[in-house]
Amino acid sequence: MNAVQLISRDIGKAMAVQTKVIDYMTGFFVEKGFKWLLPVMLSSITDPLWPDPAASKMRAPEIEAYGSKLKLMHSMILHKQFAVSMGLDRIFILSPNIRLEERDRDDGRHAYEFTQLDFEIAHASMDDVIGLIEELISGLFGEMREPVGEILGREVPRVRPPFRRFTLEEIKAEFGDEDEASRIMEEPFWITDISREFYDREDPEKPGHFRNYDLILPEGYGEVSSGGEREWQYDVIIRKLRESGLSLEAFKPYLEVAKAGLLKPTAGAGIGVERLVRYMVGAKHIAEVQPFPRIPGVPAVI
Ligand code: ATP
Ligand code: ASP
Ligand code: MG
Repeated sequence: MNAVQLISRDIGKAMAVQTKVIDYMTGFFVEKGFKWLLPVMLSSITDPLWPDPAASKMRAPEIEAYGSKLKLMHSMILHKQFAVSMGLDRIFILSPNIRLEERDRDDGRHAYEFTQLDFEIAHASMDDVIGLIEELISGLFGEMREPVGEILGREVPRVRPPFRRFTLEEIKAEFGDEDEASRIMEEPFWITDISREFYDREDPEKPGHFRNYDLILPEGYGEVSSGGEREWQYDVIIRKLRESGLSLEAFKPYLEVAKAGLLKPTAGAGIGVERLVRYMVGAKHIAEVQPFPRIPGVPAVI
């Protein structure tokens, strides 16, 4: 595709739906008293996305600015924790993320530049966040039924909380894997207890189990949100960084804040905006909802 072909695509319907989705979601968080932060796009530290095996070869690109090496943000997870430490107890951000995904991840739902609606809450539990996302998603689906029907003739399902919850182990036993579960299920559902990045909280009563959660969309659309309760205790963070084989030096400012006892127990999640819009409009590929597609393995046109 060249620049003229790109500009000539009809993206109007998808952007009309996106406008309503973002309007609804930001309104929801403002209404609930969250502070709306602006995104951080460069920092000396970002989400390691490790030890997620799929992300293992990904490195955040760096630029040099005024004597510091700054990475393009993989996600704002660590900055969300810092913001809560500043006394901002409920925050959200529309956060642009750059992730140089593997070429073979052109599966229709991966872009290498995308936006999360990312939020974090002081002293919240896993059930608090799951409940909040269920309220958001069921309200949004209800709100979008009419406009999506009118604009695209697509039926957005009525969904009612609580959504079904499976542990990752249960998903593997019952469906084989997450993608197959997404194809079979007819409503959004949760996957919990996933071993992944150091900042997601290990259950102190059940070591080796994790107080985190992903929301999966039906019809094969796959994951739309990930979140968890967070680690905040210095010793636990050090242990988990070491277990992940990550360099402590690379997380210096984060460890300083943790050592000073300034990290709080928090929980939160991030919702992939393009993935949600892709589902709403029923697009085969995430490129159809990106005016300027950023597809792994494909050179960007503009
Ligand atoms: P996946 O397993 O699908 O690669 P992930 O678990 O690596 O996703 P997270 O680190 O959990 O992704 O990111 C939080 C959210 O951001 C995801 O739930 C998803 O909605 C969105 N997201 C992550 N990576 C991408 C991507 N490459 N393109 C579009 N959205 C993404
Ligand atoms: N936003 C995610 C979370 O809140 C983290 C991520 O983007 O990887 O857990
Ligand atoms: Mg995830």
